[in-house]
Amino acid sequence: MILLKSPRELALMRTAGHVLAEVTERLTAWVEPGLSTQEIDEEVEDFIRARGAAPAFKGYRGFPATICVSINDEVVHGIPSPRRRVKEGDIVGLDLGCIVEGYYADCALTLAVGEVAPRVRELLDVTRDSLARAVAACWPGRRLSDISHAVQEHVEAHGFAVVRQFVGHGIGRDLHEDPQVPNFGEPGRGPQLKPGMVLAIEPMVTMGSWEVRVLEDRWTAVTVDGSLAAHFEHTVAVTEDGPEILTRKTEPDGRRTAA
Ligand code: MG
Repeated sequence: MILLKSPRELALMRTAGHVLAEVTERLTAWVEPGLSTQEIDEEVEDFIRARGAAPAFKGYRGFPATICVSINDEVVHGIPSPRRRVKEGDIVGLDLGCIVEGYYADCALTLAVGEVAPRVRELLDVTRDSLARAVAACWPGRRLSDISHAVQEHVEAHGFAVVRQFVGHGIGRDLHEDPQVPNFGEPGRGPQLKPGMVLAIEPMVTMGSWEVRVLEDRWTAVTVDGSLAAHFEHTVAVTEDGPEILTRKTEPDGRRTAA
């Protein structure tokens, strides 16, 4: 069942989302070669707690950390480690969530560390743009699979592949609520979008095969062919006036920042 959120609930999710927007902005400027993934994790946890929020992933089904860090051919759910250091030329996926007064927000981004090849830069740009197109489909009256289709169409037009095994999700008082939000499919299917729905939309895109497998740590998902993968995510509310990205900062004059 898809739970619609009241204005009060949306306000709490917006607060949680803005904490994530601030921390991702900081990470974009801060992540550099030599940092361990555990140092990044600690920085994010400190930041979230300093804002009076709680990490959403820590302890979730036994996940041991605040963020998921997934480097290069790792797609999602990588576990931070003191032994794993970020290197020049890596692409680093960072997935983070937080909770404010019982309400969740969830977002992800993939950063290029230093110089990367043009096609790798394109992978990141196309994945980010596919998310923007998916968000643009979040109007009342559209269908759920219009979101899915927007991602797939854009990604495949650029010669990349969409991961099937993991999908986006509804979000609210739980991290994962109905409905599932696949990143592929025909348009015009599934439930009609309504004001008050909140969706975590998260395209996962690879440079090769879309097939993934999970490592022996039982969390880290990698591409089966070793190709690079990117992941971007926003928590998005469907409103009468169209989509509102909750995990993006709003300027005092109401303008949204570009992140
Ligand atoms: Mg998510």
